Amino acid sequence: MSALLETASLLADRINALEESSTLAMTKKARELAAQGHKVISLSVGEPDFKTPAHICEAAKKAIDDGFHGYSPVAGYPDLRKAIADKFKRDNNIDWKPENIVVSTGAKHSLANVIQVLVNPGDEVIIFSPYWVSYSEMVKLAEGKSVVVDGTFENDFKVTPEQFEAAITDRTKVVMFASPNNPTGSVYSEAELRAIGEVVARHENVFVLADEIYEYINFTPEGHFSIGSIPAIADRVITVNGVAKGFAMTGWRIGFIGAAKWIADGVEKLQGQVTSGTNSIAQKATVAALTGDMQPTYDMGKAYERRRDLVVKLLQDVPGFKVNVPQGAFYAFPDVSYYYGKSDGTITINDSDDFVGWLLNSVYVSTVAGSGFGAPNCIRISTAAADEALAEAIQRIKDAVATLK
Ligand code: PMP
Ligand code: GLU
Repeated sequence: MSALLETASLLADRINALEESSTLAMTKKARELAAQGHKVISLSVGEPDFKTPAHICEAAKKAIDDGFHGYSPVAGYPDLRKAIADKFKRDNNIDWKPENIVVSTGAKHSLANVIQVLVNPGDEVIIFSPYWVSYSEMVKLAEGKSVVVDGTFENDFKVTPEQFEAAITDRTKVVMFASPNNPTGSVYSEAELRAIGEVVARHENVFVLADEIYEYINFTPEGHFSIGSIPAIADRVITVNGVAKGFAMTGWRIGFIGAAKWIADGVEKLQGQVTSGTNSIAQKATVAALTGDMQPTYDMGKAYERRRDLVVKLLQDVPGFKVNVPQGAFYAFPDVSYYYGKSDGTITINDSDDFVGWLLNSVYVSTVAGSGFGAPNCIRISTAAADEALAEAIQRIKDAVATLK
């Protein structure tokens, strides 16, 4: 046995069973190729290319000067929990008090916490697919069973209430989805969410984990609707959000939940043993983000919408690609399966993993395979990049696929 195999076998089974995050793995590969001097265009990680607005940075500097250097309460500073409760009322029409809020180290951490707190081994978690890569792995870590329900391309990748209800069993504990969605950019309308809410209302043991991290990047005239605002099910909806996307604060690592107090208390208890309260300076900056001027957030949303238009137009021009029109977030998710089975003379493309690996190594454009998102016919392209980089990347993709026979 090689040394590598021996040490891998010493890792706990839960880690050996876990997939590596494909978004982060592709980003790492792109960085490595760039470090070797290649002109890589990295459209793999979903991360705003804007800087955090100045007034938020100022609040962080002030927090340092004012001496917020110690541990914060585990669930977050009281002023931040109040700002989040006020934000839920203002933007989402959700009535939570500060005691219903827990602040964590990114929305990713918030989601993982809730799953750990609610899911017992063998419990089923319905995941609307395509879904963000980490959902199924978080469920696996809790020894739950993912039940993936596919939204079809024809229905803009959205799951219908009928499909959802058909997937519910007496082991179903949670249903989880993101709207606006990563990777598809699809947005569930108020009517669609109300219809899903009616299904939830009929199944009183089912909880909803609503991931609203892309709330402010929504191009629909109707705007964002929160399923947690439906009174009949409000105590069974856990709304997750954060500042990473809307305020260009990915590195600050702040996420939060609004949930029934017993769930919030469970998350606080878990967090108290695993991470403690999150970064004190970032919490103070988040108070400024949530209570301050929203104009930079709206301006960034407009920029993403313009890029969406550009990218969709260019992708529609790539022979063989099938392209939906994202209504939010900052991703395009073309179906590229037309090219499966084709070859450039040396390499044959059999699936989305082959496709993105080949694109990266041949034309240095980094994207993410649809396989990790539950959609093996697609690839994900982040549109959070400068217009010139997006145009250049899609031209390289177009030239590359022209060599496939
Ligand atoms: N949910 C979705 C759908 C995401 O795309 C992301 C992006 N990382 C997250 C949650 C986590 O966000 P954060 O950076 O706040 O952990
Ligand atoms: N949410 C982003 C993405 O999907 C960030 C990377 C990650 O945490 O997966 O690319």
